[in-house]
Amino acid sequence: MECSLCDEPAVLRQAYSGKHVCETHLYESVESRVKSRIREDDLLEGDERWVVGVSGGKDSSVLLDVLARTFRENPSVEIIALTLDEGIEGYRDEAIEASRELADSLGVRHEVVEFEDEFGVRVDDEVAEADGKPCSYCGVFRRTALNRHAERLDATKLLMGHNLDDVAGTALMNFLDGGVDRMARHYSASLSTEETDEFVRRAKPLRDVPEKEVAVYAQLKDLPVYLEECPNAEGATRRDVHEMLMEFERKRPGTRHSVVSAYEEMASQLDWDSAEVAACDRCGEPTSADTDLCRSCSMLAEVEEM
Ligand code: SF4
Repeated sequence: MECSLCDEPAVLRQAYSGKHVCETHLYESVESRVKSRIREDDLLEGDERWVVGVSGGKDSSVLLDVLARTFRENPSVEIIALTLDEGIEGYRDEAIEASRELADSLGVRHEVVEFEDEFGVRVDDEVAEADGKPCSYCGVFRRTALNRHAERLDATKLLMGHNLDDVAGTALMNFLDGGVDRMARHYSASLSTEETDEFVRRAKPLRDVPEKEVAVYAQLKDLPVYLEECPNAEGATRRDVHEMLMEFERKRPGTRHSVVSAYEEMASQLDWDSAEVAACDRCGEPTSADTDLCRSCSMLAEVEEM
């Protein structure tokens, strides 16, 4: 099969656009969607210091690759890769090595933050033993550590490598859970820093690119990527939702795009008051005004009591 845009052999079919694309046009298409998203979300507001959360997996690695090469010659944009080491033996070590190799090859500053230094716990021991569900702890600690270190690094934005499938899956899960508050908070967190000045603004510039295209991009570019899944990954619901979405996508190409735009439209109309944010009594990080401790510190307190 030939590329729909030139005579080269196609490497991928984009059912939602009706096109087949060759290697060169796949790269162009991924890069142009990241650039469009940066423009649409107004991520370039002046001198920028972007902290990119890089796990060593394909999504964040592709995002870092695209950003570093796109803004290499732009003196207004500084990029720092930030990797968390949750303390998961045999998994995170190799992922960190992959992220370090990628950052070095792109000439990007790379920082690693260890849970043990940050919270005094490792997922492998105390946290995992706490209730047998490490993701519930780890996820909260991850968000806190990313936010804290984005602030420490004076980041103007914290960029995450979530792809279209991730974002559509999260949207659908929030619908299924009836998580109206969560929808409103997610939307609020993506507003400008003036409106939520307690947080470093988060953004997902890869969110218009389907997971398969990210995977093929990483493979064809031979990026150093660690492909194993975390041994603690729970995610049964997320997997079910993903399968459901892909089933719809096969029958009705473009379903993921529709789910995301419907979710954003709905979330934008929900009434979330960002003034309901207060400082945690223990660490000073933002938390909701009706609690003394943020979720990380509440969980840490639970772990310490065990
Ligand atoms: Fe942490 Fe769970 Fe993600 Fe593993 S899968 S890194 S335990 S949140």
